[in-house]
Amino acid sequence: MRYPTKYDSFVGLEIHVQLTTESKIFCGCRNRFGDEPNTNVCPVCMGLPGSLPSLNQEAMSKAYLVAKALHCDLADTCLFERKNYFYPDLPKNYQISQFAKPLGTNGWIDIVVDGVTKRVRIHECHLEEDAGKMIHAGDMSLVDYNRTGTPLLEIVTEPDLNLGEEAEILIHELRRIVRYLGVSDGNMDEGSMRCDANVSVNTKGAGLGRKVEVKNLNSSRFVRLSLNYEIDRQTEILEDGGTVVQETRLWNENRDQTIVMRSKENANDYRYFPEPDLPPFRTTPEFLADLETRIVELPLDRRVRLVSTLGISQTQAEVIGEEKANADYFEKVLEYGADGPTVATWMTGDVQKLLNRTGQSAAESPLTPERFAELLTLMAEGKIHGKIAKTILELVFEKNKNPRVIMAEQGLEQMNDSGELAKLVSQVLVDNPVAVEQIKAGDTKPMGFLMGQVMKASGGRAEPGMVQKMLKEHLG
Ligand SMILES: [Zn+2]
Repeated sequence: MRYPTKYDSFVGLEIHVQLTTESKIFCGCRNRFGDEPNTNVCPVCMGLPGSLPSLNQEAMSKAYLVAKALHCDLADTCLFERKNYFYPDLPKNYQISQFAKPLGTNGWIDIVVDGVTKRVRIHECHLEEDAGKMIHAGDMSLVDYNRTGTPLLEIVTEPDLNLGEEAEILIHELRRIVRYLGVSDGNMDEGSMRCDANVSVNTKGAGLGRKVEVKNLNSSRFVRLSLNYEIDRQTEILEDGGTVVQETRLWNENRDQTIVMRSKENANDYRYFPEPDLPPFRTTPEFLADLETRIVELPLDRRVRLVSTLGISQTQAEVIGEEKANADYFEKVLEYGADGPTVATWMTGDVQKLLNRTGQSAAESPLTPERFAELLTLMAEGKIHGKIAKTILELVFEKNKNPRVIMAEQGLEQMNDSGELAKLVSQVLVDNPVAVEQIKAGDTKPMGFLMGQVMKASGGRAEPGMVQKMLKEHLG
């Protein structure tokens, strides 16, 4: 990572998160991505005269839940206001948003950068309605109003980030948080999470510089690339003795650079005023109690706990803790008495390979937590060794049966009866006189071969340690 020495760089993010609710924020239209254009619309979200909005309580709950997870002060009362501007994707010519009294303020989110925890302050969280979607096709522009009125939570950070890499990490962490909370799919490809960023560069120690806004960043990679590009661009201007122009820019992904969009507008250009058709929203004890039941351990806290209390590696914790359902599954296996590091190794290795092959998540696969633990118990009891365990694991996926049942049905139980093994070893020695002679003459190379022959004769079930010991005893 590059750290400019003569200059300080400051990055703040405005992240928009679409909330997954059944219906839109102010009307009963279905809130769903990918439907036939302009099929989920009604007079309210089309802004027809005389139509009145009514607030979706579930959208409010989900918005407050994120604010709570981001350690914000939750507003007892928050207000909706009209943000006035004209654009074809906004049929009312104003957007219902929050300005003077947002629902959450003064929060923070922790991110881990190069192994060090960094706390980024959250300025505020506010809820608004999404606009429609413009589709530009040649010299024609089309608009899909299905997205109009989708509940959109805007999360505004303080300019506590310094580089594009940090912004990218924050976006990933926030995506995990909203997915853990079950309030959004956080899918940037489909626009469920979008980002604008503020960047400024100034002489070291002189505080914030002149702010440039980079808008409409729709992938975390573009966030990183565009911010680092802007930091370099502004640094060069300052190096040459120039002044950075306060403006709004766009990321051009084909040219890998930011380009001017417009000079920056101010908040008063939007002529915010209270939305007369919606009363202020006031939290009740029931509303707040409901939030308590819906809050979960945050993904970063969980990764830290998995590493510190269960002894699994950082990388394993990152893989297992990426999705809440996966981490829950992992901990359920442990409830059956399995050992953390062993489960983690299997889960991120052989089990993951099978899940990739079948396209299932662990929780929906035939390998229930109980079966997973049973497989490891069979190994711990010495009934099977690792290679047989892998065979049984595949059969669990194939036959949807318990490992112990599969072991019995397929006769896979480990052979550790010394009498039976001794017979197999003797037979292999008789069948391979040349190898035996070689070893007796001092060349130990064929040991592996003989070992393999015994394993083969036992159908892979012989306990390898015992076989090795017996061969050594026979051959000196
Ligand atoms: Zn509608």
